Amino acid sequence: MLKTAASTEGQPTIFDKILDKTIPSTTVHDDDLCYAFADINPQGPFHCLVIPKNRDGLTRLSNAREDQKEILGHLMYTAGQLGKANCPEGFRTVVNEGVQGAQSVYHIHVHVIGGRQMTWPPG
Ligand code: C5P
Repeated sequence: MLKTAASTEGQPTIFDKILDKTIPSTTVHDDDLCYAFADINPQGPFHCLVIPKNRDGLTRLSNAREDQKEILGHLMYTAGQLGKANCPEGFRTVVNEGVQGAQSVYHIHVHVIGGRQMTWPPG
């Protein structure tokens, strides 16, 4: 199924409202650089999204600039720590990209999904 087209890319997203608390979310992790919250439509017993607090043009992975390697590393490191803490038997990290990658929110985010047996290939 195709998700939202990238036509609104660069505009404020629902994640800005989650960050400014206009929309409530269940906090999983919070630090100076990133915020993680429970996905509203979980694909497993554990499913959270790790997002940068300052999007700074980082709408999708392929838009990342050289100077954003540190925040990308921080997002992935945090995803790993959350996966380890919540899904000791293993977990999956996913970054959907663009239309064919089924990205629907253009504020980069790392999915951390676990608590069940994953299969491969993904849909
Ligand atoms: O990778 P993709 O862009 O499709 O992921 C967006 C994710 O944001 C979805 O898993 C969706 O359930 C989640 N979401 C959310 N809370 C919202 C809107 C979307 O957790 N208010």
